[in-house]
Amino acid sequence: MTSQSGRALVTGASRGIGRAVALELGAMGFEVLVNFRSEASKAAEVCEAIVAAGGRAIPVGFDVTDAEAVARALAPWLDDPRGIDVLVSNAGVTSDGLFVGMDHEAWDRPIRTALDGFYNVARPIARGMAKRRSGRIVVVSSVSGITGNPGQVNYSAAKAGLIGATKALARELAARNVIVNCVAPGLIDTDMSAEAPRDAMLAAIPMRRIGRPDEVAKVVAFLCGESPSYLTGQVIAVDGGLT
Ligand code: NDP
Repeated sequence: MTSQSGRALVTGASRGIGRAVALELGAMGFEVLVNFRSEASKAAEVCEAIVAAGGRAIPVGFDVTDAEAVARALAPWLDDPRGIDVLVSNAGVTSDGLFVGMDHEAWDRPIRTALDGFYNVARPIARGMAKRRSGRIVVVSSVSGITGNPGQVNYSAAKAGLIGATKALARELAARNVIVNCVAPGLIDTDMSAEAPRDAMLAAIPMRRIGRPDEVAKVVAFLCGESPSYLTGQVIAVDGGLT
């Protein structure tokens, strides 16, 4: 893969899939802004790993649901004429439970993180990309947003919403050479899936195994690179054949 000299922001990069994406983009040559919400030391460790591999990385703390915090934290890069070339909108949470017993806070949390988070972070960055007529946005959705998942009506709605947002934004920005795509992971081995009934779920996965964060990160990295120059508005499921 050609080495990249631009700058990439990965939200929720302190652990799991976001961490793997940050490492991958760092290895591609991007200066990586490693976003974390609560664990600065974990983000620092990700940055150290990128630097140790010869890359460039800076930890950037903010909660994607807090519009003012996002604007404050990103101001130095949004005001820089070089801007941010790549955004991986990855931060996400679950708040599982059966719909009939779901209180409003549980309903709202995954939706706020996914959709308000996307709005707060992607909008100012997309504006800069549109001006510069260049950019890549990759949104991390989920197979739950494609097929729906019982016990995850809230999360499925949030992740389906991201798919709609990806497709619409791709159409808005295509003529400006800003490419917007979505990755929909299946069951991936991270903290988020630790509580899931993994053994029961394996039977439904044609590859009969759980995915690794780096297997998602490699697809995200492809979408952030130069190769997908005529690929936009797409949803790529990384799910061992599940969908
Ligand atoms: P993890 O729970 O392992 O990591 C989530 C990351 O997102 C953490 O770094 C977390 O930070 C961060 N985060 C959560 N909320 C916010 C917020 N409000 N602002 C900033 N950062 C935040 O999850 P995964 O790595 O598994 O998930 C990454 C993405 O992939 C999510 O969007 C998830 O929905 C999606 N996904 C995951 C699947 C899986 O099986 N693991 C399957 C399908 C999709 P903190 O440490 O502060 O909590």
